[in-house]
Formats: sequence, C-alpha cells, structure tokens
Amino acid sequence: MEEDYAPHTGTFWAVSNVGICLFKMHAIDFSKTLLILDLDETLIHATPNVLDYEPAFQVFEYHIYLRPHLSTFLQTCTEHFTLAVWSSAGDNYVNEVVKQIIPPTIPLAFVWGRSKCTMRAEHIFEEDHYSPHLGHHRAVKLLKKVKSLGFRLERTLIVDDSPHKAKFNYGNAIYPKPFEGDRADDELLALGDYLTTLKDVENVRKIEKRGWRN
Ligand SMILES: [Mg+2]
Repeated sequence: MEEDYAPHTGTFWAVSNVGICLFKMHAIDFSKTLLILDLDETLIHATPNVLDYEPAFQVFEYHIYLRPHLSTFLQTCTEHFTLAVWSSAGDNYVNEVVKQIIPPTIPLAFVWGRSKCTMRAEHIFEEDHYSPHLGHHRAVKLLKKVKSLGFRLERTLIVDDSPHKAKFNYGNAIYPKPFEGDRADDELLALGDYLTTLKDVENVRKIEKRGWRN
C-alpha cells in the first residue's frame, strides 16, 4: 500500500497498488509529536503456532496475540501524540493487522509496511574483523521518509523492539522488550507512562532514552 499526501488539506488517502482508494485517513495533527509504532513483538505477537491460549484473531497463516494492555496503551498514545504505524512486515499483512487492532476512532497519520522500508546490506563480523563481502540485507526504517511528509524529527519518536530496524534513527528510538505471548507482560503500561513524559519535549533527540524503563 502506498500513501499519497495531499499537502493542501493535510489529509492522507490510503491507496492500493492498483490506485483504488481504500479508505480516507484522518487529517493530521502536526502540533503533536509524531509517535511511530512497530507491530510485531511490539504491539502483537504473530506466530504460525498456537500458544497455550487462544489468539485474538488470525491473519493469513498467522495467529495474532495482542500484547496485554494494548487498548489502554493506544488510548493513552492517541491522547498525547499523532500516531502512525510502521512495520517491516509485508504491506497486506500490516494493513490487515492494523484494521483489527486499531479502532477507527484512533487517527493514524500513515500505515506503512515493508515497501516503505529501505534494504541495507549488513556486514558480517567474522572472528576479529568485518567480512569484506556483504552479508544479507535487512529492512530498516529511515526517518527521512517521515520528514519529507512535513514532520520534524525533533518531534518524532519511533518505538520498535528491534534496535537494528531503527538504528539509523538513534535519537528518536525507544526500544521496548519483545513480546512473544507472555500474558503477564506489562511493558505497554510502563511504555505509555514513559511516553507521556515526552509529549511536550521540544527536541526528543536530546533526551537519553536508553534505560527508559528504570
Ligand atoms: Mg518488531
């Protein structure tokens, strides 16, 4: 899925690859800090296997488990931030999951999947040196794509359980621990409280965010 931005109206339209408008996104509130959320292992856990409890729903061959306190977290976030979703998973999967977990009353500035990621070669560390040949490629999220929509990076946060996916956005990133189905997980409660402390910060990049949970 691609998003086309209409600069005069501040309105996003979500457009399928064949150019059919699927649904109108909400007008974007640029006055709030942008908060970009990852999906897998951050808000949900998707697995082809069934865990020892029922999944919330299924998308393609994946059973989807919601991270505990997800709806409270989303309500807290939408109150204080302009929200968006960016996952490195396939675009169709991302759209399906977002439709199921984010109620239409919560506006999203954009919903991006793998097609908005950038493939970067990863150097393999062998013994005491980096191998001269390139390792495999990894999808990374480059915030310059967000900047080009009109958001200021000083007021952009990206939440991702995989540091390597957001490593080029070091000053903007917050890393929760990965969720793999633990029903006692309370990371989203702590994260919601922490994010609230950042909502009015003029330059989030100046804030040390490692160890945010302590
Ligand atoms: Mg993830």
